[in-house]
Amino acid sequence: MTLRTDALEASIYYDGGRRSLRITAADAATLNPFDGTAAASGNGHVLTGPLSTANALALQDAFEVLRPQLISGHRTSVGTGDRTGLATPGQARAFGESGAGVKPVLAQQSIREMDRLGRSARSVMDDAVFGLLEAGWDRGFGADCDHIKTSEGIDRGLEAGFRMFTLDPGDAVADVTAGVTRADAEALDWDALEDTLDAALARYTGTTLDLGARSLEVTEQDVLTAVVKYGAAVAEAMRLYRHATSNATDEIEIEFAVDETPWITSFFEHFYLATELRRLGATWSSFAPRYVDGFEKGVEFRGDVDALRANLEAHHAIAEQFGGYKISLHTGSDKFSIYPLCAEATDGLVHLKTSGTSWLCGLEVVAEHDPELFTRIWDISRASYVKARASYQVSAEEDRTPTSLAGVDLVELIRAEDSRQILHVGFGDSLGGTDASGVSVHDRVLDVIAAHQEQHSTLLAAHIGRHLAPFAAVAARV
Ligand SMILES: [Zn+2]
Repeated sequence: MTLRTDALEASIYYDGGRRSLRITAADAATLNPFDGTAAASGNGHVLTGPLSTANALALQDAFEVLRPQLISGHRTSVGTGDRTGLATPGQARAFGESGAGVKPVLAQQSIREMDRLGRSARSVMDDAVFGLLEAGWDRGFGADCDHIKTSEGIDRGLEAGFRMFTLDPGDAVADVTAGVTRADAEALDWDALEDTLDAALARYTGTTLDLGARSLEVTEQDVLTAVVKYGAAVAEAMRLYRHATSNATDEIEIEFAVDETPWITSFFEHFYLATELRRLGATWSSFAPRYVDGFEKGVEFRGDVDALRANLEAHHAIAEQFGGYKISLHTGSDKFSIYPLCAEATDGLVHLKTSGTSWLCGLEVVAEHDPELFTRIWDISRASYVKARASYQVSAEEDRTPTSLAGVDLVELIRAEDSRQILHVGFGDSLGGTDASGVSVHDRVLDVIAAHQEQHSTLLAAHIGRHLAPFAAVAARV
């Protein structure tokens, strides 16, 4: 596919698994911003160059559609992370085929994943830009620098041109499962919150929380619990927020996320977080509470579907009271049974995040074309699962999966729940590993996928498309 301006035409050129950028222009000077080798050809000039940051930046200069956009103007949006840097074309195709009305966030990676994979925020952006060009995608995209916990992480995303910043104050969320006292609440840093405990108690105690279908009376104990559990997180979220908004040169949008904590966010706690963040001057476009249990990596929803519906409806009702922001669903992939209800319960005002599921599509390509490499990835993933399971919501049992893959149908293995989760959370260790001769698994994976990129894109278009269709159905109605 190609993208065109009046002055030039750009495409990604494949020579086997090797990719390069190709630019043609009538005027040789048009090629000056690009890196590569130029030659006269017919009536014009052709440049062949590397997929470098300089060339990604030159493309973004030339094509407005390759610069990330704000997504907050769109009710329904879906983010698709890309761990290999080769998934964007297939993901874009999925949005074209199945995602009408759903805004794509095609550059999305958490700081933690960037660090595990040794990728810079800019390399994530570069891969997205080249992938969009490969797909010929001209309908715009968002870019989400995900799960940021430090101001340094914000700086990285700003420098790379991200527009959406998911700020995660989760490390400051306190465990209140043993109960809280007034003394615990008094011990908070109230100056950081520009508040006092008495003022906070007066603000909420005895009020009625409207949850749409029902309402809740807020007790003093509710307030003390929320304050102790999330008070420091509010201060930390505002520190990150102020850093992001005061350093951004373009308009940016914010998501606040507390989903990666062990403790469910109650409705009043959501209301408290929104009220306090608003009081302190923040605006945001999406919010990710910690939901009811059941969201596990890479597999179907495992919780109570009716409880989830009631939960999302109430969170959505709270969001509406603050002007309407999106409820953000993380760890969102492969939960096909709940997408219709997620879209309906939020009236389409929802953002879904998927990430590792695209890696699993890439693994299907590797399994077919290089089973020996796949076996190495399986061995590393299975061995590392024991420690990985501590840091993810997963329930796979490695004992239920094979140690030897001789005679095993590899695609079935990738799709079966236990092994799928093991492969899903094993990406960091397996991509960071080496094969028997010391060659980087990461390099070999990229070579295999790039050599079969058309098949890879077709798999992704179908698989991501299944995620998008239920959201597109509701996006079209609202
Ligand atoms: Zn998350």
